[in-house]
Amino acid sequence: MSRKMIDCRAVPNEVGCTLTIAGEEEEVLDAAVDHAIAKHGHAPDPDLREQLRGALQDAEVALA
Ligand SMILES: [Zn+2]
Repeated sequence: MSRKMIDCRAVPNEVGCTLTIAGEEEEVLDAAVDHAIAKHGHAPDPDLREQLRGALQDAEVALA
């Protein structure tokens, strides 16, 4: 399985967050959901995980 990443800079956010989370897809999504709720002020709605899945990119070589 290839590693994936979410780069907060690639998604609209009001908090100026520059975090990148990389790992296996489900690991990234687990962390990203917690992060989005804790730091980006997202409501913990059931669609959040699928929205974040749509923002996944292949991990950059430096992070793989
Ligand atoms: Zn962030």
